[in-house]
Amino acid sequence: MNHAAATLAIRWRLRQRILPHGELWRRLGEYTGGGSCGGCGERITSAQASYDVDFTPGVTPQSVRFHRECFEIWQCECQSALPS
Ligand SMILES: [Zn+2]
Repeated sequence: MNHAAATLAIRWRLRQRILPHGELWRRLGEYTGGGSCGGCGERITSAQASYDVDFTPGVTPQSVRFHRECFEIWQCECQSALPS
């Protein structure tokens, strides 16, 4: 997957409030693959490490699965991006 494209996709989702800014509650490692990434939107294959992320109760969405790399991008964007 393309790091720059994933960063742009995650920024867009943050702006559209599809992803919360922070509100991380817990993160579970998941290595089975399947489903699509809540960050970049691409499929998660069995060869790619991913995380199941739960957000603080009350936040929508309640949980998202990320590629490990997309999770790291999301965290980074949450720290750097201010809502405009
Ligand atoms: Zn991804």
